[in-house]
Amino acid sequence: MPVNVLFSARPALWSVYEPLLTKYLDDAGVDVQLGTDFEPDQVDYVIYAPNGGLLDFAPFTRLKAVLSLWAGVEKIADNETLAVPLARMVDHGLTQGMTEWVVGHVLRYHLGMDRHITEQDGVWDPDSPPLAQERKVCILGLGALGEAAARALTALNFQVIGWSRTAKEIPGVTCLHDSDGLRDALSQAEITVLLLPDTPATENALNAETLALLPKGARIINPGRGPLIDDDALMDALNSGQVGHATLDVFRVEPLPEDHPYWAHPNVTVTPHIASETRPVTAAQVICENIRRGEAGELFVHLVDRTLGY
Ligand code: NDP
Repeated sequence: MPVNVLFSARPALWSVYEPLLTKYLDDAGVDVQLGTDFEPDQVDYVIYAPNGGLLDFAPFTRLKAVLSLWAGVEKIADNETLAVPLARMVDHGLTQGMTEWVVGHVLRYHLGMDRHITEQDGVWDPDSPPLAQERKVCILGLGALGEAAARALTALNFQVIGWSRTAKEIPGVTCLHDSDGLRDALSQAEITVLLLPDTPATENALNAETLALLPKGARIINPGRGPLIDDDALMDALNSGQVGHATLDVFRVEPLPEDHPYWAHPNVTVTPHIASETRPVTAAQVICENIRRGEAGELFVHLVDRTLGY
């Protein structure tokens, strides 16, 4: 009997994923029926994104796992109707995209690129930027994305300080954890990159107290999630000069409302949640590998710890 796999994501993605999933599952020898419309009690796996609209998993009585197309699972991790394993997306393409985006925005700040691109004023100011080894960059979150960004910045010779929930060792990176580690990391951070998940424990990780730890004029780059930052505290810090500039890709409300003060603030760059996205060619392989594992009785990869929310 074939396994039934329901694709519940943005409808436009179905035509992109369907041939990839068919090919990879065929290669893996899994007899499968893929679709966007099954009776819930006939579904073995759900390929999931929040914009597919699926909220109630209770009728999915023979479900074996939910496989998220998104890396961030805050919209499903606490869903009480979900009683089967939840795997999140860890995808080479997504990781590479995030690394490129983070490195680009760190270099913008490090080199002071705006000075010569957006602020050209006829003044011949021959000040050269420092070298990367003189610049401290802090990355909050050293998971799939944070570690890759940390390694790339280290390869460029930046002094990278990382912070995570558990202790880590990454060559060339000063790895810190716990609340003392956060204070230590932020107090040195000329540029801070947020790559934490959105969980109850990370909400407002940057707040009035932690923003005050930063060196005056520090830069912030947030491709993680909007709730990681207390927006009022950030606005205060921007207005006082405590934070020199912020590049924000993610927000509590998306799209960011037209009248939100971030749009108009001279020291904020808003990007529309484009830091990186799941890349179908590589992501479909990750999904298919988990279906293969499920059918072979092997452990799933990239499982979410739903008690932690990531
Ligand atoms: P991971 O789960 O691999 O990594 C999360 C990291 O955060 C881990 O290092 C983890 O610590 C750390 N962490 C979690 N909770 C805490 C805490 N309470 N205190 C300190 N550290 C904590 O996630 P990814 O790297 O794959 O993704 C990170 C986030 O990036 C996603 O959750 C998503 O929100 C966002 N994202 C944004 C995109 C965009 O386009 N803007 C695209 C894709 C993802 P430990 O290692 O000890 O477990």
